[in-house]
Amino acid sequence: MSDKKFKWLLIVSSLTCIIIAFVWKYPEAVKANSTKDIKFGEYLYINPRSTIHVSRKCSKLNYKGWKSKRIKVADMYYYFKDTPMSDISFCPHCVNDKDYESILNSLAFQLDNRVNEIIESRN
Ligand SMILES: [Zn+2]
Repeated sequence: MSDKKFKWLLIVSSLTCIIIAFVWKYPEAVKANSTKDIKFGEYLYINPRSTIHVSRKCSKLNYKGWKSKRIKVADMYYYFKDTPMSDISFCPHCVNDKDYESILNSLAFQLDNRVNEIIESRN
């Protein structure tokens, strides 16, 4: 093996090592469809089984060609008022702990408002 070839081989193999180390240490940076950065916005997406999704791009949302509905977070109470709480579930794929908390807080807030409205209308 010539000196030139050996040097080149050395550079390539050390570069490969660096790339492998990077991928191993930061798998999230490499994954194209990482769900970690999805932000919980103005809308929620509900599939026919009353599963709440926060991402329109969630791969579980239009699973098997199901038609999903887009609702505003602020309209959640009206959307779910006839649905038993036990029927509602959260997508484990796109709803993280923070989103889950925000959604429940928002729903509790809307429920509270509705209760106050009913109390006020009775007085
Ligand atoms: Zn989802």
